[in-house]
Amino acid sequence: VAARRELLKGYVYAPFRAHDLFDRTFGTELEPRVEFSVYDGEAADANNLLYTSGRVPDHTPERTFETTLLVSGHPWTVVFESRPEWEAGSFRRFAPMVFVAGLLVSMWLFWLASGQSRARAAAEAGNNAKSRFLATMSHELRTPLNAIGGYVDLMLLGIPGPVNEQQQKYLHRVQHAQQHLLGLINNVLNFAKLDAGRVTFAREPIRVADAVTDASTMMAQQAAAKGIEFRVTPGDDGLIQADPEKVRQILLNLYSNAVKFTAAGGSVRTTWRVNGDHADIEVADTGIGIEADRQENIFEPFLQVDADLTRQQQGTGLGLSISRELARGMGGDLRVESEIGRGSRFVVTLPLG
Ligand code: ADP
Repeated sequence: VAARRELLKGYVYAPFRAHDLFDRTFGTELEPRVEFSVYDGEAADANNLLYTSGRVPDHTPERTFETTLLVSGHPWTVVFESRPEWEAGSFRRFAPMVFVAGLLVSMWLFWLASGQSRARAAAEAGNNAKSRFLATMSHELRTPLNAIGGYVDLMLLGIPGPVNEQQQKYLHRVQHAQQHLLGLINNVLNFAKLDAGRVTFAREPIRVADAVTDASTMMAQQAAAKGIEFRVTPGDDGLIQADPEKVRQILLNLYSNAVKFTAAGGSVRTTWRVNGDHADIEVADTGIGIEADRQENIFEPFLQVDADLTRQQQGTGLGLSISRELARGMGGDLRVESEIGRGSRFVVTLPLG
């Protein structure tokens, strides 16, 4: 997200394709007397040419009109050049008209582009308000939930007094529900932070084997409890350059999905390999799989394949979109290959140190 914001800084969002737009406007002239070009930047530099209606080879135009427009701090240069037909004579008297037309077109361009930048500013303000709302909400919900968790722990430890077996059973249920809800809220909070570009990434050399061991030890027990085989096959030795906390978050999310969507008797397997300047960590399961036309959608926030109220598995539909943003934030990526009924294979790519 940060890289994308950096890239867009100072640029005007223009959802029209410059060439198509100008071509529609100026390309309809059957006998053109003037050529028109638009450049991105302060000068008519050929490398930054956005559009030209054409050029007459080996012709030095007698008349040129050049102006630079500043739109939201970004310069565009507009150039009109006369063609031999214009210089041939009878069109000279149109010179003032060409000048006025140039000015009008420049104003029109300015109006179009500034409209776009206003729309973008409004959209960004809305987005920030939404992210702030989500972050505050999640914080307000987390504080009482942590208190519930803390008091349940104290009671289970018998600190306020002895609890009988039945009470212990109920307390464990409260604890389970509290942890589940806390997980969901943490996801929403994480997503809001990423969406607002407020997540920072540490860069440290980490052995792939260590990153995988760290996450898989936390998950192996959960898989075993569900009767799922959980196997890690060590791959090439390699040092990735990444944020250990974020890598753990991605892997734990992939593991919890793999265990969630795989029935007892199935398996979850992890391995990795070094490929050029990056490492690919692979988490494969033999679970329900994902239909081909849904495989890209699952990385969208709040999207689940089975979105019915009757669906089998709980979740917010945020895990994978958070994981992909985290991987991309570290210069890597996250992708999936899957076949319905046979299983899914998620691959996290991370740059080597
Ligand atoms: P959540 O798991 O909270 O619903 P995710 O973003 O982690 O959200 O996943 C989005 C959806 O992608 C899931 O609801 C599920 O439909 C699908 N999905 C993710 N991982 C798997 C998997 N290993 N096998 C099958 N489907 C999966």
